[in-house]
Formats: sequence, C-alpha cells, structure tokens
Amino acid sequence: MKFLKQVGDYAKETVQAARYIGQGLSVTFDHMQRRPITVQYPYEKLIPSERFRGRIHFEFDKCISCEVCVRVCPINLPVVDWEFNKESKKKQLKHYSIDFGVCIFCGNCVEFCPTNCLSMTEDYELSTYDRHELNYDNVALGRLPYKVTQDPMVTPLRELAYLPKGVMEPHDLPPGSVRAGQRPEEILEQMEK
Ligand code: SF4
Ligand code: SF4
Repeated sequence: MKFLKQVGDYAKETVQAARYIGQGLSVTFDHMQRRPITVQYPYEKLIPSERFRGRIHFEFDKCISCEVCVRVCPINLPVVDWEFNKESKKKQLKHYSIDFGVCIFCGNCVEFCPTNCLSMTEDYELSTYDRHELNYDNVALGRLPYKVTQDPMVTPLRELAYLPKGVMEPHDLPPGSVRAGQRPEEILEQMEK
C-alpha cells in the first residue's frame, strides 16, 4: 500500500510540474508572436499622457509675487524675489526660479497658484552634466518645450495606455485606430449632456 501511495504522489507531482512548465512556455510562445516594442529614442519618442507632470512653465507677467507656490511646496522650493514698489503700492517681481534638481514634480505649486502662471509641460529631458544647471530662472522657465507630436525630427509613438484594445506595439498602427477607453474630453462631453 505504501508503495502504491508513493507512486500516486509521484504521478501527481509529475502532472503538476508539467502544468507549470506548460504555463511558463505559454508565456514564451505568446511573446514569440510579438515584435519587439523597443522605442528608438531619441529618433522615436512616446507621447506623454494628458496628465504628465514634466518641467514647469512659468509666465512672468501673470505672477503677483504672492508666494503661495512657496508655501504649498513640500520643500519651499520656488524662489520668488520681489521688492515693494512704493508708487504703485504693489509687490514687483524681480526674479523667479525653481531648481528641478530638487523638485519632486508633485504639482502643488501649479495647482494652487491663484493666477495660473505655472503649468506642467511634457518636458522630461532634463539631464545635464552639472546638477546646478537644473536651477531654472524665469527666462528658462518661460520657454515652452517642443511638443513630441510637432517635432519634425522625431517620430511620435503612442504609449501603451493609448493603443487600441489588444495592441501592444505602437509602430505601423492603421490610420484612424482609436485607443481603448475614453479621452478626457469625451468624458467631459458626456458629463455636460
Ligand atoms: S512641483 Fe512640487 S516640489 Fe516642485 S516646485 Fe512645485 S510644489 Fe515644489
Ligand atoms: S503662486 Fe503663482 S502668482 Fe503667486 S508667487 Fe507663485 S507663481 Fe507667482
């Protein structure tokens, strides 16, 4: 009886092992049908998502030097350099800067700025040889980055979340193919109805 039990256990374990091997190979065979989805950066770039929080853009003329952005920043990062103008009895902005070597891109400053002079851009290419070069002054912050979709040197590719259902690969998409799910503007349209 003991011998038969041992044979039974052995057969059970063999079937289980075969099942696990089959499961593993099914993943391998599934991937063998797919093309590599490597993005040939910097010649090809993925289009950042709608809510991507990249480098901050700043509009000097809109800033009222209220320093709300400094107070809501978890690390009090933005530097607002202003002086009081006795004639107009208003604060006058002289310089504004954010150090992106320290910023955590939380977006609090953008969210709370009362005059909307701060906004998040798609810009994620911030690498430099010297981290101090990441301290952007108001001139650098005022530059708008080139959009991936408008750059003639770059082939824009849709990232996974924006591909049609079941599609894994952003190359050679048939024209007019739409992504799975709804775009934010479509959701807004539905809410307004
Ligand atoms: S994104 Fe966040 S961390 Fe960066 S400056 Fe704004 S509030 Fe501060
Ligand atoms: S919150 Fe906006 S308006 Fe106020 S200092 Fe910061 S950038 Fe300027």
